[in-house]
Amino acid sequence: MERRTKIVATVGPASSSADVLRRMIDAGMNMARLSLAHGPVEETLERIRLVRAVAEEAGRIIGVLVDLPGPKIRTASFEQEVYLVEGDTVELVQAGPGSTSDWRRIAVDYPGIADHLREGDRVPLGDGGISLFVEQVSGDRAMARVRSGGRLAGRPGVALPPSRFPLESPTPEDLRLLDRVCAADVDAVAISFVRSGADVERVRQASGPDGPMLVAKIETQEAVDALEEVIAVADGVMVARGDLGIRCALEDVPHYQKRIIATGVAYGRPVITATQMLESMLRAPTPTRAEVSDVANAVLDGSSALMLSGETAIGDDPVAAVATMARIVTRAEREFDYQTWGRELGAQQVAEHRGAPVSVRITAAISAAAWRAANDAGAVAIIACTNSGTTARAISRFRPVIPVLGVTPSVRTARQLSVGWGITPIVTHQHGTTNDIVWFAVSAAAESGMVKKGDIVAVLVGSPEEPTPTTDVLRLVTI
Ligand code: PEP
Repeated sequence: MERRTKIVATVGPASSSADVLRRMIDAGMNMARLSLAHGPVEETLERIRLVRAVAEEAGRIIGVLVDLPGPKIRTASFEQEVYLVEGDTVELVQAGPGSTSDWRRIAVDYPGIADHLREGDRVPLGDGGISLFVEQVSGDRAMARVRSGGRLAGRPGVALPPSRFPLESPTPEDLRLLDRVCAADVDAVAISFVRSGADVERVRQASGPDGPMLVAKIETQEAVDALEEVIAVADGVMVARGDLGIRCALEDVPHYQKRIIATGVAYGRPVITATQMLESMLRAPTPTRAEVSDVANAVLDGSSALMLSGETAIGDDPVAAVATMARIVTRAEREFDYQTWGRELGAQQVAEHRGAPVSVRITAAISAAAWRAANDAGAVAIIACTNSGTTARAISRFRPVIPVLGVTPSVRTARQLSVGWGITPIVTHQHGTTNDIVWFAVSAAAESGMVKKGDIVAVLVGSPEEPTPTTDVLRLVTI
């Protein structure tokens, strides 16, 4: 049985060669994530081309997710990795053209930074493990004491007090970058520092009707408070635990994680759990016991995908990080309670969908029926014939123990499904009547080797003849 929980791996300097990418794909990477926060957009576009070329050569469907930087304030680049020692003093100044940072002087990409800081401010850096305490502000610089030390490299984020540094998402720079990545036909875009459904809608409007799948990063208290509203308008969600742990109480993070995953899954949205999953593998060959438990628990919480960040972007061994994550996930999935998950989701949606729009009610009902019928008939797979991917995601919510084959004529939908729990995307270029679509989908499934003669499969399909086609047909087919 293939692994069901997918792996998103961030591509950076450590993983930007064809050889490393090929081995990451072999080790289990399903989607590549590229962050626009760390380098020029041209470099990202070049890396997207490389990922696509390597995936094609390997004959694999690998999605591409591009992460917009959002209003995150960052330091000027640390040319060399530094170690800040607790008790040391550092200077915070405004970054200018060509500025760099070092262990004595950190240049911050924010105009007039010192004017906005106050004595007593706490300033977390990176994912918050390192923090500074402002002791004195004079003129254009602030002197700060290192409260908790650690390693810094690249352009870490600087979390300034939210009351004096309000966030706005998307930023004008995000929208400019969005144009560039939409032109490159990326599969998905992650929106940083979302606070409400309206933030997602602004990106949707800017990316147009054929825009990419929009993934809302949940990393502010406002987004947690407006969770259903945000998830309802997004196509996917990320539990962005790095910034979430800075902007909310750290001890809230595991509980918010569970809530975000449960809500995302109920809405049929892929949920990516991210950040510090195998952090120690940046330098070490094996993860800590706590990291192994965290990865396994994120699987048991129901995550659709888990994400590697620095581990694959700047770590010593990106391939080992992916392979380790794949091993932990596969083991954890043996403990997953598939039947209880499906039963509880079925009962929950009967109650929730009573007043929902007709198309939502039909998709919910037919996918619940498919889950039940596949169980009762002993089917070996559920085939979801899908244009946009919605039908495949609707059945995947039930976390069926058997594979979901997302059969689609759209290459882009197939790539987007690479992050869907338990979904194997298959591209067929055949259209026609409902009967034709079922026939082509079943043939494609048989050709893939995932089903064989004599097997029963449940097939979900729409009626293309209808004026507004929704998935409204369930067939049980013996191959
Ligand atoms: C996070 O904050 O957890 C996250 C995924 O965002 P980024 O890595 O872009 O800061």
